[in-house]
Amino acid sequence: MDYLPVFLDLRERLTVVVGGGAVALRKVELLLRAGARVRVVALELHPELTLYRDAGRIEVRILAFESSHLDGAALVIAATDQTDVNHAVAAAGRVRGIFVNVVDDGTASSCIMPAIVDRSPLIVAVGSSGQSPTLVRRVRTQLEALLPSRLGDLARLAGRARARVQRALPDIERRRRFWDRLFAGSIASKVYAGDEAGAEALLDAQLATAAAPPRGEVYLIGAGPGDPDLLTLRALQLLQQSDVVLYDRLVSEAVLDRVRRDAECVYVGKESGRHRVTQQRIHALLLEYAARGLRVARLKGGDPFIFGRGGEEIDALAAAGIPVIVVPGITAALGAAASAGLPLTQRGLAQSVTFVTAQGEGAEQLDWRSLAAPGQTVVFYMGISQLPRIVGHLLAHGAPGSRPVAIIERATLPEQRVLAGTLHDIIERARAEGAAAPALLMVGEVAGRAASAAAQSASTGTSNA
Ligand code: SAH
Repeated sequence: MDYLPVFLDLRERLTVVVGGGAVALRKVELLLRAGARVRVVALELHPELTLYRDAGRIEVRILAFESSHLDGAALVIAATDQTDVNHAVAAAGRVRGIFVNVVDDGTASSCIMPAIVDRSPLIVAVGSSGQSPTLVRRVRTQLEALLPSRLGDLARLAGRARARVQRALPDIERRRRFWDRLFAGSIASKVYAGDEAGAEALLDAQLATAAAPPRGEVYLIGAGPGDPDLLTLRALQLLQQSDVVLYDRLVSEAVLDRVRRDAECVYVGKESGRHRVTQQRIHALLLEYAARGLRVARLKGGDPFIFGRGGEEIDALAAAGIPVIVVPGITAALGAAASAGLPLTQRGLAQSVTFVTAQGEGAEQLDWRSLAAPGQTVVFYMGISQLPRIVGHLLAHGAPGSRPVAIIERATLPEQRVLAGTLHDIIERARAEGAAAPALLMVGEVAGRAASAAAQSASTGTSNA
């Protein structure tokens, strides 16, 4: 940075303009706008400068420049059309330690005047360190177009409310949030439309609500099976406004990339380091963050209400009186069915679909006879480690060994893999291929389409991933 931009308070300070032509006139007017006292030193005066003199707004010396003319000055501008005079002014200023601007001569100057976009009290100053005045003008024009003409009114409104807001919201983070909303929302719109009284009233109303103790809330969000494009719009919006995100092992990196940049992300997957994060601990964390007034996203793979313990979490939050918003996600079975091209129901093949988990103690109590019945699709979640037991139960309850089975691993992710087989050979195939969680087991005639797809891609040399 070659120059330090600063805003000078020149009110009642003496400034000197050397030169009496049109360029000097423009500088005099600028200095008057800034409230400075102005002394003009020139041999001849532009007629408009005479008017300013006659009105008593500037002091004029019709003399050749001498360094004593700078006595008491805070700033001097050399605006004659004579280089030697301008340089003499610059030299005199340097000796006295006064900042000098020589118009159109950056090298002789000790300060340069920026181009300005004036929305007083908001002022934008633009400079190129003397490299390109044309570029500076262009940037100024762009800013002129970009900044609402009543931006200054908005700045004034903010200035008037500043102390009030500071009192009502002592916490700096909440204050920042309040201002951010104000400048982006309907208060700003009212100011731009010229309704300052309306804006002022709205500000007071919003300040009163913002001053109430912040209420934390929890968003229980389904992250879907992995592909971030399968997030719902609602999920995206809430992820963008969350302060903290508690996420599971099954939530993909790609989904986490959609979380607000400055949100705190906390991993609460099954195995965190050596310690198991228990469901109780997750409840405690949710309550803790919400109690601090934060917006907490609880992000779960798939849908939070399908094998996701979402029910337990909303109960714990409801018991503590914390508001919860539930956002559905695409459950693994739906994601896998779509990305592997396996319709879960199909006329003549499957009249119903069942999502089931064979994990845990409940597995023995499942109605295996009905799960083994024909004409349906059964999707097993968390089933890969239970594969031999599942197959054994289904065969023991009357399912034929020829019943098609598909294993869909890491569905919707770039690494997705589909293994096709039958109840008769799937255990062997899964072992041979090293099938691993997260994977779904799909049992039923529709799973047979996976086998024909595999056969087809083998013959055409394409992969099904
Ligand atoms: N709430 C989640 C399920 C959580 S249980 C949902 O609605 O999808 C975890 C099980 O889901 C895993 O063991 C696996 O069987 C399945 N699963 C989750 N994501 C998967 C994916 N991308 N591909 C295949 N199976 C997945």
